[in-house]
Amino acid sequence: MIALTCYGGVGEIGGNKLLLEDGESRLFFDFGTSYGQRYRYFEEYLKPRTGAGLLDYLEMGLLPPLRGLYREDLIPSGQRGLPGEAAFWQTFSASPAYRDLQGQEIHGVLLSHAHLDHSGAISFLRGDIPVYTTLTTAFTAKAIQDTGKSSDLDGEICYFSRRSLEGDYLSPERGSGYQGRPFVIVGGQAPSPEAALFWRQSPSTKALHLDRAQLPANQIGRLPLRAFPLDHSVLGAAGYAVETSQGWVAYSGDLRLHGARGQRSRDFAAGLAALRPLAFLCEGTRAGEGPGVTEEEAFRSCLAAAREAKGMVVADFGARNVERLFSFAAIAAETKRRLVITPRDAYLLEALYLAEPELPGLWGDVLIYQERRGKRDKWEKGLWERHAGRAIRAEDMRGDLGRFILCFSFWDVNELIDLAPRGGAYIYSSTEAHNEEQALDLRRLENWVGHFGLALRGHPERERGFHASGHASGEELLALIRQVRPHYLVPIHTEHPEYFAAGLAGTGIEVSPPEYGRRLAFGG
Ligand SMILES: [Zn+2]
Repeated sequence: MIALTCYGGVGEIGGNKLLLEDGESRLFFDFGTSYGQRYRYFEEYLKPRTGAGLLDYLEMGLLPPLRGLYREDLIPSGQRGLPGEAAFWQTFSASPAYRDLQGQEIHGVLLSHAHLDHSGAISFLRGDIPVYTTLTTAFTAKAIQDTGKSSDLDGEICYFSRRSLEGDYLSPERGSGYQGRPFVIVGGQAPSPEAALFWRQSPSTKALHLDRAQLPANQIGRLPLRAFPLDHSVLGAAGYAVETSQGWVAYSGDLRLHGARGQRSRDFAAGLAALRPLAFLCEGTRAGEGPGVTEEEAFRSCLAAAREAKGMVVADFGARNVERLFSFAAIAAETKRRLVITPRDAYLLEALYLAEPELPGLWGDVLIYQERRGKRDKWEKGLWERHAGRAIRAEDMRGDLGRFILCFSFWDVNELIDLAPRGGAYIYSSTEAHNEEQALDLRRLENWVGHFGLALRGHPERERGFHASGHASGEELLALIRQVRPHYLVPIHTEHPEYFAAGLAGTGIEVSPPEYGRRLAFGG
């Protein structure tokens, strides 16, 4: 008998934390941030308190109450009348999902890709639990962390600052560097010496102790492991299959078929079918939705909009959506404009070329936007040293904005004040608003764009075809699952698990919708 317990991705899109157990072998498929649960209580200016460590996350249900799984330095205990470690956990032991995993080995987290709803909560895991993932995902995660805000607890995926109590507040320990997490690279791809250097490079003046990523990984704990590269809206995505005592258990991560790497997802389906899996944990983001816009269609809409634009072009697409960035590089070439990217994107691109030297060349005449800034972080200083010739400032562009495509997002929109455009296009090549906050941001964006006389193209409520989803449609997923033919299908990462029971009726595939924190048992 094997057991699967889902602590996230249950009736929600994202937040996957799926515990698979086979005897003494234990692993998680992903350990992501549950944004649905987080936004029930928190927002941008009301956050879990960093100095309270795990407390706020456990109390508000952002992390499952699994004692022994998390970093001990995040337990506020033992001083100034604070409860001891045991008493701290006492508070959560009444929860039906509570479990004591102390002394039980967790063999690792199989990380599917570098989106935070799959990776974010790794930050809280014990520092000895290894993360298994592709080289591209490891490097993407590190680039995001290196260039992110260092104060947030939930951004500490590749390395973390150990914390200790100052009074009743958990602060980073003074004088100690970052502690690296062990990463194990799947797919057998050996990093170059240059790449290994990037992995060990600290983003700040603090020392970084990050071990060389181990490879190759053909098993996790004692269980044979297969990794399959996938097509998704971030590079490096993978699906996994683990051979348990009862048969193969497979996990989709997030996938689509309509991007440049669509064939990979098709090969994944064929590869899984050959394994005749006992169980398949499959995402269902777009359950119930028909075919959508393909990446190629999004490219063509954006190209047409850039051609029509008189004046500057701003391209706004999802952070880390490098495939879309490549599309806009091609659009820049076609419309005889120069592509301008942010320092963050430049740093990520450098990391990606180290992980995948075979990526099509893009650097050519790409420019990097240099915004006004007093002090620059170490990672950014290094970037400007390497790319001094690519730096461009608003004042260098102002008179001749029609020569550029700027890859900006809503969060860079205040740069328009320095650029002072008069006319041109703001191409919104991103997802529709999923909550009230995003809807408000979209309205703010309309105001900015209106103020500077730009045409807003690809508004998700008015003009279709400018954005392709990172996920396969419901119908594509059903066809893929029928091809894989698992004994059990566990629909995760979906608000509509019932869609799969209806869609797979009569196929002999048993659909087992998960419940939060409840064990599903498979096999004899
Ligand atoms: Zn994703």
